Amino acid sequence: MTQIKKRFEKLQSSTLRLRNSSAEERANKLNALWQAIVNRKQDLFDAGAEERGCHEVDIAAELVMIKGELDHAVKNLGKWVKPQKVKGAIGTFGKKCEIRYQSKGVVLNMAAYNAPSAECFVPMIAAMAAGNAVAIKPSEAAPRSAQIIDEIISTALPDDEAQVFQGGVKTAQALLKLPFNHIYYTGGNAVGKIVMKAAAEHFASVTLEMGGKSPVIIDETANLENAATKLAWGRVMNAGQVCIAPEYVIIHECRHDEFLELIQEKIHALYNSEGTGLNNSEYVPRLINSRHHSRVAALIKDAKDKGANIVFGGGSRKKDRYIEPTILSNVSEDMAVMQEEVFGPVMAVMPYKNREQVLELIAPRANPLALYIYSQNDDNIEYFLTNTSSGSAVVNNNCVQAGTNPNLAFGGVGASGMGRSGGFEGFKEMSNARSVVHQPLDRFRDFLIMLPPYSDRYKNLIMKGLK
Ligand code: NAD
Repeated sequence: MTQIKKRFEKLQSSTLRLRNSSAEERANKLNALWQAIVNRKQDLFDAGAEERGCHEVDIAAELVMIKGELDHAVKNLGKWVKPQKVKGAIGTFGKKCEIRYQSKGVVLNMAAYNAPSAECFVPMIAAMAAGNAVAIKPSEAAPRSAQIIDEIISTALPDDEAQVFQGGVKTAQALLKLPFNHIYYTGGNAVGKIVMKAAAEHFASVTLEMGGKSPVIIDETANLENAATKLAWGRVMNAGQVCIAPEYVIIHECRHDEFLELIQEKIHALYNSEGTGLNNSEYVPRLINSRHHSRVAALIKDAKDKGANIVFGGGSRKKDRYIEPTILSNVSEDMAVMQEEVFGPVMAVMPYKNREQVLELIAPRANPLALYIYSQNDDNIEYFLTNTSSGSAVVNNNCVQAGTNPNLAFGGVGASGMGRSGGFEGFKEMSNARSVVHQPLDRFRDFLIMLPPYSDRYKNLIMKGLK
């Protein structure tokens, strides 16, 4: 603890200097960080392959996502750090009003394991752009990635600006006792509650990036071939360990059976095109560790025991943490697979009769991180968008809303999270939006009409405001 505290104090010591750093200085540091990341790309590819059996192109895509955020920040920083003039109002007549985005101080970023580089670096980019010092706590479940990230950061930046705290729950708990100014957390919502409570102790602001069960609605008009291809990809990608992955499908009953046929065909087309078996595909990743492997295997077993049909897959192999891509039908609310986030390549499919029933089926898992609608009927699309809530939504696609466009802020709602990351919204999240009012001192604009004793003119003016 003493060691962690000392390292934290080192970060605290630079907060004023960083707050006063120019856009150019911040941009140079971000570019240095990117260079250090690129220099270690092969090591990050190898770590992804070892930890989750990922193809190197998938890890490269994660790095491209980081580059997109970083380039956007570098390009726009000059504009973001400038005082932003705001329009006047009757109450500020004659005064100059502006918002200054000022750094919060020291930001803690606690990451999950499923995209270790993106989860460490994307919030860090926003925090640095806003002029904060940053502490990174990578997930202990991806230790090789954590080590490389640690080396990248210590190469690129001085230790009073950024530090990596490797370790598990004990390290996280020790960090959470410290008076950080902002905590950015990515992970499950059980720990999200712990983070929020710890933040309250020091009135730290929080961004919580959590998960949940993201539904997919497929109506009677959907292009089913297209939907099945995209959903096969969305559910098998990263072995289902994607916070915005489609977790379950609610499909109009007239398309249910056809969809079950198509999704099997598409899983094979994408992940077994050579015909050597899904378990031998270089594109089918693995669960992060044996605990998560057993957890997902148990969810499949529980569903089967309670009467679900295993339409596809259902198998698992412990020695290399393989879970066969699995499609379940005939699922019910008492199954754990409908209650917990699977975070594995398992998709449940349920039929609906009318669109009101879709809302009832989503209700027990309200406020997911994402919601997907496959439809060619504008009225249905609008109905589902306006009658549901989620952090993000996509029509006729999935998993394309995060890390793809810095202008599309990302985040959850309710149990799936709070706050936003990405682009200017991410920068604002890491800043104190300080309102500044400049009062000119000439007699035309510096009038003190509102001070007692109240004049009749002032009384009339105020009373008129009540009309
Ligand atoms: P997790 O909650 O187990 O761990 C996340 C972090 O919390 C780790 O750094 C860990 O060390 C720390 N932690 C764990 N237990 C703790 C405790 N008792 N006290 C303090 N800190 C503790 O999450 P995970 O299993 O690594 O990640 C999976 C979850 O993350 C899923 O729910 C997924 O949906 C979510 N996720 C969300 C996003 C997003 O952007 N919304 C992105 C990726 C993952």
